[in-house]
Amino acid sequence: MIEDNLCAVLNKIDDLRLENRKVPEPQPNEVLLEMQSVGICGSDVHYWKNGRIGDFIVKEPMIVGHESSGKVVKIGKNVHHLREGDRVAIEPGVPCGKCEFCKKGSYNICPDIKFCATPPYDGSLCRYYCHDADYCFKLPDNVSYDEGAMIEPLSVAVYGCKRSGVTAGKSVLICGAGPIGLLNILTCKAMGVSKICVTDILENRLSNAQALGAKNTVCVKNMEIEAVMKEVISRLGGQPDITLECSGAEPSVKLGMKVTKPGGVLMLIGLGAPEIKIPIIEATIREVDIRGIFRYVNCYPIALELVSSGAINLKPLITHHFTLEESIKAFETAHTGAGGAIKVMIHCGK
Ligand SMILES: [Zn+2]
Ligand SMILES: [Zn+2]
Repeated sequence: MIEDNLCAVLNKIDDLRLENRKVPEPQPNEVLLEMQSVGICGSDVHYWKNGRIGDFIVKEPMIVGHESSGKVVKIGKNVHHLREGDRVAIEPGVPCGKCEFCKKGSYNICPDIKFCATPPYDGSLCRYYCHDADYCFKLPDNVSYDEGAMIEPLSVAVYGCKRSGVTAGKSVLICGAGPIGLLNILTCKAMGVSKICVTDILENRLSNAQALGAKNTVCVKNMEIEAVMKEVISRLGGQPDITLECSGAEPSVKLGMKVTKPGGVLMLIGLGAPEIKIPIIEATIREVDIRGIFRYVNCYPIALELVSSGAINLKPLITHHFTLEESIKAFETAHTGAGGAIKVMIHCGK
């Protein structure tokens, strides 16, 4: 009998604690997972420090965590593709499967999607957790639990690259060298892109980008937009076909509007202020397409293959490790970025 189920619960702003809850029973379509690795995402930290993201507000205590992997310990009676002992990556969003968006394959924009650690739904930073088996993906033997947890943010990059048309021969500007920007560098390279330029306002983040093989980096702090444009164009040998905006910062979105090649794509991946001022005329007179992405759709299998095949090495991004009992310290590390933290991983096993 399993009795202990330690969970990291966000009660309200700045109040994250560990609580023992009942071990849940899997529904017929679910599996019970012994949680292994859970990565801390910017959004987890944001809920902890601000209590909300846009219209998603933490009103009731909520278990945090959504970048996770686990081991199947019990299966619901309608589950046939998984068995006890399977190692899985957990896709945190479970859509309704019935609406027009789900039916046409865009389940990420399902209005009824239940997504881990997005209020009011609990996340997976616990010892034991139940999840819909259809959204659990078996890890190949050569993919670790830590890498399995990283499939979540990697899927964001895979979707951004897919939806913007990233492919061999394209030149790409990546704005922002946080974890998502770095994952976009790795994904672009895996998709055969050789011309990549990365911008950020922090030198230490740009050195992370360089360590992952981005040769062209531009520190844009205190630079005028015209000067940044000139620098990006000279580094890439022309205007980028695609700009992957991963910072959410207004100057970066503006840069993407102005520097992207006519007929190119500005992909909005970073989340910043809900309303900003942009030179919209670039969309009309130069046909720069502005596209957004919401999480990802049908990307887990692709992300898993990129890692399993060796096309993408996630290990350099995983910089810090904590136990479930040390969750608060882990969140503090993710919040401050102390010790050069890129991705902070929590290990849920005893
Ligand atoms: Zn995330
Ligand atoms: Zn739906």
